[in-house]
Amino acid sequence: MPVILAGAGCASPRLLTEAAKMSLERADHIVFDRLIHPDLLLLAPGSCRFHPVGKRESDHLMAQEDINRLLVELGGDREKTVVRLKGGDPFVFGRGGEEAAALEAAGIPWTAIPGVTAALGGAVCAGLPLTHRGAASSLTLATAHRRSDADESRFWEDIARTSGTVAFYMGASAFAEASRRLTALGRAPETPCAAVVWGGWGRARTITGTLASLGEAARRGELPSPAIIYLGNAAALSLSPARGPLAGMQVALCRPYPACWTTGRFLEELGADAYGLPLLSLEPLEPVNLAQTREEIEGADWLVITSPRGPAELRRIAPNLRAIRGRIASIGEGTSRALREAGLPPDLTAGGTSEELARALASAVSAGERVVFARNERGSNAAVEAARAAGAEVRSVSTYRMMPRELPGLDVAREQWGAGGPHALVFGSAALVEAYAEKLGAAPPNAELVAWGTICAEAVKSCFGRSARRLSEPSDAGLVNELKRFYHPDQQEFHIKLK
Ligand code: SAH
Repeated sequence: MPVILAGAGCASPRLLTEAAKMSLERADHIVFDRLIHPDLLLLAPGSCRFHPVGKRESDHLMAQEDINRLLVELGGDREKTVVRLKGGDPFVFGRGGEEAAALEAAGIPWTAIPGVTAALGGAVCAGLPLTHRGAASSLTLATAHRRSDADESRFWEDIARTSGTVAFYMGASAFAEASRRLTALGRAPETPCAAVVWGGWGRARTITGTLASLGEAARRGELPSPAIIYLGNAAALSLSPARGPLAGMQVALCRPYPACWTTGRFLEELGADAYGLPLLSLEPLEPVNLAQTREEIEGADWLVITSPRGPAELRRIAPNLRAIRGRIASIGEGTSRALREAGLPPDLTAGGTSEELARALASAVSAGERVVFARNERGSNAAVEAARAAGAEVRSVSTYRMMPRELPGLDVAREQWGAGGPHALVFGSAALVEAYAEKLGAAPPNAELVAWGTICAEAVKSCFGRSARRLSEPSDAGLVNELKRFYHPDQQEFHIKLK
């Protein structure tokens, strides 16, 4: 396999190309930067090895030569899929060309996959047209880090002269010097300028002003990073795209993959930044006596499935759906949807929590009926006991268990949240609350804690000594309703106007 230089796009995984997604899904090694969305790493198979090489502006984690060497070394094994995942586009100011050249010099084949580069993603999401009739008819992508002096003055002269839009990729503080140089070369200090910080992300901010005022803000250290700074008339257009109800909210989702992924992308559509923390992953279990268990499942009067993961694991053990004679009970809409997709439409859908399932079974099940639960090894016992109390003959089959797993993007996520942590930390189950407490310790002090169900909320109380908000309805829509109760985007400043 050639080494793949893949663009991670800027911000949400929703901006990732299908080609990049496919490369991550079969990666044996992923070499990644820090300006990527950490959820992208969740796409990799369980056997993948991760190599963080992100550069901070002050302390370089790994020098470019070392990254090149690592790629050559990993790429030397032609059997393996090596993905070099780079923020934005691999060939726009990411030194992707140098990596490709190093691979080529070592005789290692490579390919590249484009990504949405920060200047485009940031501007488009902020509603800043980069070309516009009457305002700008060209776009220059520029950076201020140059090598030789001769190069340098030519570069600034060109930039000072252009009438189109210039997008600067650079540490925001470096714009102080850029502003000084351009003004000295005759560029009007009142030329419109806009900085887009964390472009494309839910937390993106736009700071508009002029060459003089943004230069001054940079000098005072008031322009945050990462930012793209746009110069030219297009920067003054200042349109206002609609914002979702969760605009700017940071949400960490402690749920298994892929549930954290689908919920996360849904929250991002509403304006949030979402981070998956699947601290547990599913391990399929095989019953000791497979033939007998299969018969019990097929011959049951009721078959009870208690999570969206359940149907697939059930089919692994009892693949012949026609042989299943009994009625099917499900714990909630998500599980019922998975059941229908698996070809097992439910006869009963309970309210979504184990207590509600217990209540529903207590009235649906008759004495003497055979009830089989096919479920997580550590599932709640409330429904099992309710069926027993109704006089049923109950059998519980453990079809899977949840095991601790590593989170390769955790450091990246933490760095992006900053010291206060996310606005909300959402737990999908009691087991995940315990896994969090064990692996990561106390919950972030400023985060609201949100629990999917009652037992999960109890676990939050006992692990962290704090109360959790409980969803009124255990679904993505229920989660959004709960988040909206305490997060108000109108309290955020998304557009800062300097003089
Ligand atoms: N290859 C990347 C650019 C890497 S250079 C791309 O195509 O986007 C790193 C610089 O990109 C940062 O200093 C910053 O100026 C800019 N940058 C990266 N992500 C950004 C984002 N989400 N918002 C604003 N600027 C960003």
